[in-house]
Amino acid sequence: MKPLLPGSTIGVLGSGQLGRMFAIAARRLGYRVHTYSPDRDTPTGQIADIEIDAPYEDLDRVRAFAAAVDVVTFEFENVPAPTADAAASAAPVRPAGLVLHTTQHRLREKTFLETHGFPVTKFAAIRQPGDLATAWPGFGSAILKTAGFGYDGKGQYRVTTLEEAEAAWTAMNRQEAVLEALVDFEAELSVVAVRSEDGSCALYAPSANSHVAGILDISVAPGPFPEHIAAQAQEIARGLLEQLNVTGVLCVEFFLTKDHRLLINELAPRPHNSGHLTIDACITSQFEQQLRAVCNLPLGSTEMFRPAAMANLLGDIWGNGEPNWAAALAMPEVKLHLYGKLAARPGRKMGHLTATAATPAQAERLVREARARLAS
Ligand code: AMP
Repeated sequence: MKPLLPGSTIGVLGSGQLGRMFAIAARRLGYRVHTYSPDRDTPTGQIADIEIDAPYEDLDRVRAFAAAVDVVTFEFENVPAPTADAAASAAPVRPAGLVLHTTQHRLREKTFLETHGFPVTKFAAIRQPGDLATAWPGFGSAILKTAGFGYDGKGQYRVTTLEEAEAAWTAMNRQEAVLEALVDFEAELSVVAVRSEDGSCALYAPSANSHVAGILDISVAPGPFPEHIAAQAQEIARGLLEQLNVTGVLCVEFFLTKDHRLLINELAPRPHNSGHLTIDACITSQFEQQLRAVCNLPLGSTEMFRPAAMANLLGDIWGNGEPNWAAALAMPEVKLHLYGKLAARPGRKMGHLTATAATPAQAERLVREARARLAS
């Protein structure tokens, strides 16, 4: 495809914060942005030129949306397959629907990874009564996860006995699930990887991620990993970009086991929460890379200006009223990003803070202090 130059229009399926930060990057480079989701006054819609508020199932509206733009991308991977197909009938969709199909279903994703020789934790498919009892002897502690539509630890149950596993499966209405061995990990890390149509790739330094209640809490980059581990994580991410023939951004989340093996936890075919710090710390942000990749333009440098740390801001921090933004912003190395969401609910990602510093550890200290100041 010929490069889509500034002035072209990008369609974004989905309207959350990832679309918002993508739209900011695209607008800065002189592109127009249309967004499509079943909501209005959305994080993406507030930045886009046009916000379409219609159901994903309204395939005529989806086709009309795609016909009005030069390329379609998405900001969340749970776009229903018929929606992506309808869009593809009227405009190129990047990454292609195959990537979406593979990554929006845990069982398909894990099976793809295992079949292609990528390292994953032991897992079993749970589809019908009897599957748990058959699989269980190979597992000690495990996590039962719904196969479809899972993110941020939702639809997950930690189990240590077959009885607990059966009860968890019943609690999830006996829908298709994955039984996954619990990984006793030393750290969690992720690599944001980008690939353009001509096959060139750009890889960011792995970030170290910590989660609270299954939701990303803090990311620090570059993470404190031995060089060979960082290089191996990047090579795995590059291999996945190629195997999945991605045109766009792919984030690979890993566990680092206590005996220093990398296991892939999951894939996201889009910019990722752990890559938000690339906005303030890198020559090219993950969102600008998404734009460049889907427009078939040369990719930018992933080099970091300074080590950085990112802290998520969940709706919970509004519990005692408006957070003290001025107190956090009084720290000169700290940047505030808010997503324009209208209601602050507990657990909802409302924004994030980024701090840059001379070392990753210092950046983490700063961003934690900035977040603590919000409650002052
Ligand atoms: P997920 O939504 O699958 O990425 O899970 C959210 C978080 O739950 C992960 O980032 C881990 O902290 C934890 N988790 C998920 N699967 C496992 C596992 N097999 N072993 C240990 N921790 C896990």
